[in-house]
Amino acid sequence: MVLVRAAALHNVGKVVLWQSLCNLSKPEVCRMPCEVKPRFVVLYGSQKGQAQSIAEGIAEEAEGHGLIAELSCLNQNEKYNLEKENAPVVFIVSTTGDGEPPDNALQFVKRIKKKTLPNDHYKHLCYALLALGDTNYANFCNCGKTIERHLQELGAKQFYATGYADDGVGLEVVVDPWLEGLWKAIKAALSKMASDRTAPSKGGVGDSPKETPDSYTPDVQLNLLSLGDHQNCESIKTSVNTDSKYASAASSSASATQTAVSELRPASPAGSLGLASQSRGTASISTSAPETQTQDAGFPHLTLAGSLTCSLPPLSESSLNVPALPPPYLDVSLQDVGTMKQIVGQFNKETVHEVPINRALQLTSGDSVKTALLLELDISAYPTMAYQPGDSFDVFCPNKATEVDGMLHRLGLQDQRNDHVHVSLKKDNKKKGAQVPSYIPQNISLLYLLTWCLEIRSVPKKAFLRALVEHTGDSVQRRRLQELCSKQGGADYNQYVRDPSLSVLELLTAFPSCQPPLSLLIEHLPKLQPRPYSAASSCLKHPGKVHFVFNVVEFPACSGRPAGRRGLCTGWLFDLINPGLVFPGKAECSGSLTLPKIHVSLRPNCSFRPPSDLSVPFIMVGPGTGVAPFIGFLQQRENERQENPDAVFGETWLFFGCRHRDRDYLFREELEGFVCSGTLSHLKVCFSRDDQEQEEGKEVATSVSQPRYVQHNLLLNSQHVTEILLKQNGYLYVCGDAKNMAKDVNDTLIEMIKTELQVDQLEAMKTLAGLREQKRYLQDIWG
Ligand code: FAD
Repeated sequence: MVLVRAAALHNVGKVVLWQSLCNLSKPEVCRMPCEVKPRFVVLYGSQKGQAQSIAEGIAEEAEGHGLIAELSCLNQNEKYNLEKENAPVVFIVSTTGDGEPPDNALQFVKRIKKKTLPNDHYKHLCYALLALGDTNYANFCNCGKTIERHLQELGAKQFYATGYADDGVGLEVVVDPWLEGLWKAIKAALSKMASDRTAPSKGGVGDSPKETPDSYTPDVQLNLLSLGDHQNCESIKTSVNTDSKYASAASSSASATQTAVSELRPASPAGSLGLASQSRGTASISTSAPETQTQDAGFPHLTLAGSLTCSLPPLSESSLNVPALPPPYLDVSLQDVGTMKQIVGQFNKETVHEVPINRALQLTSGDSVKTALLLELDISAYPTMAYQPGDSFDVFCPNKATEVDGMLHRLGLQDQRNDHVHVSLKKDNKKKGAQVPSYIPQNISLLYLLTWCLEIRSVPKKAFLRALVEHTGDSVQRRRLQELCSKQGGADYNQYVRDPSLSVLELLTAFPSCQPPLSLLIEHLPKLQPRPYSAASSCLKHPGKVHFVFNVVEFPACSGRPAGRRGLCTGWLFDLINPGLVFPGKAECSGSLTLPKIHVSLRPNCSFRPPSDLSVPFIMVGPGTGVAPFIGFLQQRENERQENPDAVFGETWLFFGCRHRDRDYLFREELEGFVCSGTLSHLKVCFSRDDQEQEEGKEVATSVSQPRYVQHNLLLNSQHVTEILLKQNGYLYVCGDAKNMAKDVNDTLIEMIKTELQVDQLEAMKTLAGLREQKRYLQDIWG
């Protein structure tokens, strides 16, 4: 008999097929039931919850591997003691901002960086580390790398190769295999530590004396979801161990397994290329690919088009590895309390203030590809909101009312929108460290919950898709959801869910038979976060006011999204100010229309500030709305120049870029004014979509092709830039798009340093890293 059990690997990972205890090749689960299980420690540092979720998944998995995991957040230092720890320690840490540790790892990083610690401080420690980062940002996985470097400097030994997972391409690419190998490594480490302790007589600590890293064979088998239709699938050869019994990730009981297996058929039989659309039960969609007919020499060709709801072979015919089902852990009930006063935004009154929008200006012309808007807020009533150039403001926006309504309908709760929501932990929940989300206040209505607390626009993670499978009636839709969260469906997940930023509501609309309970949404949807915007003004020039500039983000239509939509916050702001918006060329009729108030809080940035020494030169690189903080820098500098006419001021350079001179050259007049007044020494502008006639380009380039992007202009001014950075102790600031621009600028700077100093790539990278460490190369990037 084979006992099939889905082990819970919460967020990422594989379904693990547990063989019967008798069949297990490894002894620790089979040995005496009263045996003390070996322990290990899992520590996480997490900003957005991803690292925490992976750490929790490991802790949940542990028991199934015959181990005990002690899970703590790095800031809970009362819960662990690395100074005395003799069990393996697994670190899962993310990186935030400009390579900073997450807030809940800050103290730990500070502690291990202490110069007074002796070299052998962690000599006894055995660790493994998974670092999460995003290569779109500078200092990839910096927190993980910092922790690792200090652990090693303090004598700790690595028992498993460090994983560096990149959110830019999908964390799972690294996380999945890393987790897969982790268990073998932990057991080998435990075994080695035990034998080291008890040598020469091996054994103890609940592990096999024969179990050494060299001899160990993993007891983890990948579980393949069966196609279930062997006749149709005869031709499909997989690398599956054919002895394995297939199991559903969804179920831990044999009967549930059978049900799932029978429903996991591919949308179309193998060999038929999915052309025959099959009707299955209550299916209202088909996952077999639709036919597109084209004519060629009189013969119709059938081409297949994949989509969010339809897969193509080989995926539609493939066996699937799906993540284990995340254990439900919340109980949610609704209570009718009669009429309830609707509360708007329960914000922290000390930091979040409701302020009037004074003015709203469209900075781009009507035919520009993007719409850039400037808002002026009146913050004069709140002295605590006094800001410095370089700071940002968090804007608190609600979810869109029509989407909240859509979600209520989708959940079948439209008549209960005003009911009180009670959220509590399930009594016997299996989730380690389970907590009611702290961002769900007491005594709120369902409407409030969906409007202000949950990010209902968030892109569903694979674990969420996995959980949705359980609430999907139609087998075809279920199969497609399984595909999208499976290892084999990774490319489809990226193409149809992740890349187009598909929202949960869009997904639910595309899968009509999916009826999740409210509790599932609360378990999986993240907190609705405020959106930060850089101050585009200086309060020296605009006392009691702050300006910010933003592009209205547009998401085009895609499979699963019949019509395009705007970004949540930028779309909301656009709708709020639209009646009172002032367009280029339209006379401002101040006072005729009262603009609404919005909730904001100050978000100081202590390093992204102009140099305090006025004589130091600095360079600003800010294409598009990335120019925002530099308007603040220059307004402040203008004021300082007026106040200190005799002072020596360092040179200032601004590299700006946009598509067209006439459509989206933001702050053109103000920037040219700064040049005229001498506040801005050099303004270098490029236009990526204009014809080649460019005055600013001509100034520096005659033999070189016209600069199109800011990095081209940097290169053209390489000598000045490197002189400022390498010889004059100057600063370089980059602001704007993280995905392309910041990277291109970084690469260009490396090239420039290579040429200037005649050094190789590595040396140039070290030089740039040095500038970053000295906080003379600073980035404020987003996207
Ligand atoms: P959402 O509905 O949240 O959609 C977000 C998605 O839109 C992202 O996943 C990304 O794919 C895309 N996206 C995010 N930002 C942009 C963008 N700027 N252009 C195009 N696509 C984008 N934005 C500004 O326009 N001006 C600023 O001064 C500014 N300052 C910022 C300062 C900081 C410190 C940070 C972290 C971000 C800043 N942003 C700024 C980005 C801003 O906070 C929002 O992310 C952006 O306006 C999109 O919000 P949304 O709710 O409309 O989009």
